[in-house]
Amino acid sequence: MKNLIYVCLPFIIVPSIVIGQPSTAPNVFIITTDGFRWQEVFNGADSSLLGDKRWVTDTSACKQMFDGINPQERRSKLLPFFWHVIAKQGQIAGNRSQNNKVNVANFYKISYPGYQEMLTGITPRRLNPNWAINSRKPTVLEKANNLKDYKGKVVAFCSWNILPFVIRESHSLIPVNAGYERVSEENDPMGTLINQVQSYLAVEHTRNDMLTYVAARNYLQQHHPKVLFLGFGETDEHAHRGNYDQYLIKAHQFDQFLADLWYFVQSDPFYKNNTTFIITTDHGRGSNPKKWGSHGFWIKGSGEVWTAMLGPGIEPLGELLHPQTTWLKNIAAAVSLLIQRSNPSESYMLTDNRNSTLNKDESIYFAGGQ
Ligand SMILES: [Zn+2]
Repeated sequence: MKNLIYVCLPFIIVPSIVIGQPSTAPNVFIITTDGFRWQEVFNGADSSLLGDKRWVTDTSACKQMFDGINPQERRSKLLPFFWHVIAKQGQIAGNRSQNNKVNVANFYKISYPGYQEMLTGITPRRLNPNWAINSRKPTVLEKANNLKDYKGKVVAFCSWNILPFVIRESHSLIPVNAGYERVSEENDPMGTLINQVQSYLAVEHTRNDMLTYVAARNYLQQHHPKVLFLGFGETDEHAHRGNYDQYLIKAHQFDQFLADLWYFVQSDPFYKNNTTFIITTDHGRGSNPKKWGSHGFWIKGSGEVWTAMLGPGIEPLGELLHPQTTWLKNIAAAVSLLIQRSNPSESYMLTDNRNSTLNKDESIYFAGGQ
């Protein structure tokens, strides 16, 4: 451990990140599930919503799956990988009952500006109301793709068919497989199978998350990209439809994807002990139980989010219980911090390193990250 330097970065999403000397450039996976509330992350299923037939088709079956005597029991049932693994080996931020807050900086609290903020580090001022129009701002994925260790090794798989425009695939040339877009079948029976299944389902703008996951995992096994953006979407879809039971089931499935992916990473020599997960959501939802399914600037609670991090770059602080406010846009800075270490001549520098133990010339900056 002696060549690890601990850095305190109060404006970054978490208070400390471990700066080490990996043998090869670190891998970073940004993994999101759309519009998933901090309330469920930290308290598990909401008992009052679980028993409400407006939102839950079979209240007794749903309670058996997700209810518990306290928040700790409920959250462990809903998100076992979060609370049995990340909470021990990584960090989870955003429990507002502890005054630990992660906020959305953009005014709108909908998806396009949420992902823009997360991936560019800049607060979007101009509203894109989820239209298929390329973002003007480069993302941290583009920045990674311009570093020599990551060039051609950055990829995205997404359920939502608008994310290629946030990542501006046509401009950045970062491959983004999104919505019900076909996957490559070249020498790949799994690709053929995925496309066959998709051809029966291609009716919506958001792909079934399971297909997104299978497509991404298959790609990882075959091509070993170093930076991955993996965006799931069904939590938001079911919330908008008022299906609290399905919203919980999709959140639980998201947790299972994380567990499976983490096990895959730790079992694969290319990724093992050199891959960091940064996990978050693009916006919150209504904090009032009647408004839980909606979000936007007019719905209180929509700007309240959370983050979780796991991997060799992250100090194992567990659930963050101290008063602190960080921002969704700090995700881009955290990714920059992780990837620039292997490319010091091309490093970004922090705008504020008051509490950093790094030397001045080792400091890290993400342009526009404030
Ligand atoms: Zn939504």
